[in-house]
Amino acid sequence: MTAWYSIILILVSFLLFGIAYLLLSTTLEKHDREVIHLKLKELALLYEKGGIPTLEKEISAIKKFQRKRPFFIRIADAKNTTLFLRLGYQWAGFDIKKLENSPPKERPRWSILRSTDDGNALQIETFLLPDHHWLQVGMTLGEREKLLERFREIFAAVLIPLILFGFAGGAFLSFRALRPIRALIHTVHSVETGDMTARVPGPGTGDELDELVRLFNGMLEQIETLILGMKGALDNVAHDLRTPMTRLRGIAEIAMQSNLKEAACKETLGRCIEESDQILTMLNTLMDISEAETGAMRLNPRAVNVRDLFTSAADLYAYVAEDKGISIRVQAPKDLIISADAARMAQVLANLLDNAIKYSPDQGREIEMTAEKNKNGVSISVADQGIGIPEADKARIWDRLYRGDQSRHQRGLGLGLSLVRAVVKAHKGSISVESAPGKGATFTIHLPATVQSENTFKRQ
Ligand code: ADP
Repeated sequence: MTAWYSIILILVSFLLFGIAYLLLSTTLEKHDREVIHLKLKELALLYEKGGIPTLEKEISAIKKFQRKRPFFIRIADAKNTTLFLRLGYQWAGFDIKKLENSPPKERPRWSILRSTDDGNALQIETFLLPDHHWLQVGMTLGEREKLLERFREIFAAVLIPLILFGFAGGAFLSFRALRPIRALIHTVHSVETGDMTARVPGPGTGDELDELVRLFNGMLEQIETLILGMKGALDNVAHDLRTPMTRLRGIAEIAMQSNLKEAACKETLGRCIEESDQILTMLNTLMDISEAETGAMRLNPRAVNVRDLFTSAADLYAYVAEDKGISIRVQAPKDLIISADAARMAQVLANLLDNAIKYSPDQGREIEMTAEKNKNGVSISVADQGIGIPEADKARIWDRLYRGDQSRHQRGLGLGLSLVRAVVKAHKGSISVESAPGKGATFTIHLPATVQSENTFKRQ
């Protein structure tokens, strides 16, 4: 690319020089012709007045103020025999015979006579006088050619080195300017070969390239975090699947024992089904989370009454809560409607309620489900007075398969909150938690005010 720019630059420079040279040479030629023509007119008038003697007088007068470029003057009769010739020492190299041998009427008005020795040239204008004699006035081109030669020399001595220097400088500068791009390419190659830690060294110039490098490194950082997260999640899934699978295998081995009675055999098979159900639930929930996170989850949004949602969730968990001596209080305006997938929202509330009961100690505690409309939309909260969440766990409880230390003796897969958050996000909402150890936990869902159309939720 740089090479092309430089070649174009050189061509443009040569073109500009060519135009300037042409302009200069035509201007000089025009000027010379004007000078010769004026002199010719002047001499023709003098000749008409007093013939050759008057002309000679005039010429000797001119000699006193000898010009740097004297005029060549010749008068010839109708047969082209020279009657008068002013031939200075400057024109020693010119063969005047050539003029005598070529009849003026056959010559163009303007002609050039070249010197035989030094390559100098004489520009001549030929004019027919009223008495049919010929007047020829000329001037050497030496001065003009010297000037043009000087111009060419200046071009060769100044402009060519300048262009070459510009070419080299341009190549060097573009080589330097493209350094971050080369580093970028190198890094992309490294990432391609599996080195996710590769980063582009920042040029630190504070320009657009610097910004691009910063953004690119930021993007790599994010990709690396995502990949590590995915690897971690995969490890967790593998780890969490191993336990029920090992158990399942153990139970199946027992069932294989030939001396087992039918009832014991049935019981063992029943346990096998339980274990496989747990594995299936785990895999299905993981699939649901991925679908919700990637936007592939099929939602069927419609107008849903929040109080109805609360009531059915509370009814579902009434017995479990009662067993633990916990009461569930529902507080929501009668006519509070949200646009949501009712089944998925019920699943969200069920998960939050299940956790609230699970992580509340027995007896005397209350769980409160509240909903209210605000200027940004609708807020739905599930608050318990249970064990609460340590500060360090707050960011991790949303991760797949994460379970708090205090929760390990409770049933659960560590997937409930991941699913809750993914479904809420699929509804364009958000969820947050406020909690302190021993002081209970309040999970709050924020749903946007705009009623979503069915298509907004469905991916093609
Ligand atoms: P699970 O309940 O199956 O462990 P979740 O994804 O539902 O998985 O919750 C993740 C973790 O968050 C739990 O293990 C627990 O430590 C913490 N947690 C969730 N809800 C509550 C709650 N209401 N009170 C205290 N801790 C909670």
